Amino acid sequence: MPEGQPSFRIGQGYDIHRLVMGRPLVLAGVTLPWDLGLDGHSDGDSICHALTDALLGAAGMGDIGQHFPSSDDRWKDASSLELLAEVAGRVRRAGFAIGNVDVTVVLEVPRLSAYRDAMIEKLAGAIGVGADAVGLKAKTTDGLGPEGAGEAISAFAVALVTSPA
Ligand code: MG
Repeated sequence: MPEGQPSFRIGQGYDIHRLVMGRPLVLAGVTLPWDLGLDGHSDGDSICHALTDALLGAAGMGDIGQHFPSSDDRWKDASSLELLAEVAGRVRRAGFAIGNVDVTVVLEVPRLSAYRDAMIEKLAGAIGVGADAVGLKAKTTDGLGPEGAGEAISAFAVALVTSPA
């Protein structure tokens, strides 16, 4: 980068979790009324996991598993939204500012439109940006793949961070 210019860095993240009976459905930190939930060590929040990895990738700081190893009991009952907030703090302490983020969540059901604003507010609050810096789009797959069969919910995320000149 030229002298005196901020450095822009982009990261991407992906995650998928299986839908199972007997678990709450938590996406972007919002608990949705649904009879299936996402399986996993944590709450299985694929949106938060994908976005966490996108931020870490942009900052060149590894991945979610390195920051929160499942062997470490400190993070055992933490929500994925809290882990996302913790990572945003670590990224800032490493000298980066968080620009904007954009997420695509892939699922057949339930419809998210009624919860979209609440989900964006949660993500924005966790990473410390305005709601206008958080994109969230839901896509179906025309019945294809595990998401189309209602067996899983996946998410893709990108994040932009800047470091000062
Ligand atoms: Mg995950």
